[in-house]
Amino acid sequence: MEEIILSLPNTERKVLLHCCCAPCSGGIIETLLKADIAPTILFYNPNIHPQEEYEKRKEELIRFAVKKNVPFADSDYDLDTWFERVKGLEDEPERGARCSVCFDMRLERSALFAHENGFAVFTSNLGISRFKDMDQVNAAGLHAASRYPGLIYWTYNWRSGNGMTLMRQVAKNENFYRQKYCGCVYSRRDTSSCKSDTPKIPDIAAKT
Ligand code: SF4
Repeated sequence: MEEIILSLPNTERKVLLHCCCAPCSGGIIETLLKADIAPTILFYNPNIHPQEEYEKRKEELIRFAVKKNVPFADSDYDLDTWFERVKGLEDEPERGARCSVCFDMRLERSALFAHENGFAVFTSNLGISRFKDMDQVNAAGLHAASRYPGLIYWTYNWRSGNGMTLMRQVAKNENFYRQKYCGCVYSRRDTSSCKSDTPKIPDIAAKT
């Protein structure tokens, strides 16, 4: 398989990698390690619903992080704030306005974590999925980085070269748990194979 030559902006040697799940980040982590770049994983994904699914995706990623000896930072399961932020966007399709808000929330926290923990560069695996709009992810990352002087969001295209093939290969080799929907309860509602067992959508409006 063709080798990917990677280098971080400003010849940095470490990067904060926001990860949503093991299947989307396994190939990226392997690529970074091969390039002698030290990733630290940040798991901040309050969009994932229900909590059982959230824990499952997180545990799978921790399993891989331990195996690869990659530091893993676990952040809050801030579900109520996520529902507050996407209020009014419940019926948006995937790649629509709800996803912009969702990316903003996750990458804002990633930028804050990078700023507070000495990372000059951060990035995310979110753009690797063919179901995602890469420009939408990059816009959220760049906007989040602009809050902190000197912080860079690395807009590397993880789909380029053999990125997608490697992603699938690592997922298969590691026998990762593979989810059927993006993450939020609305994406589960809108995924045909999940429709019959979608959990009740929380009535966040009743809490506010
Ligand atoms: S579909 Fe995915 S990216 Fe969009 S709001 Fe739901 S969890 Fe977030």
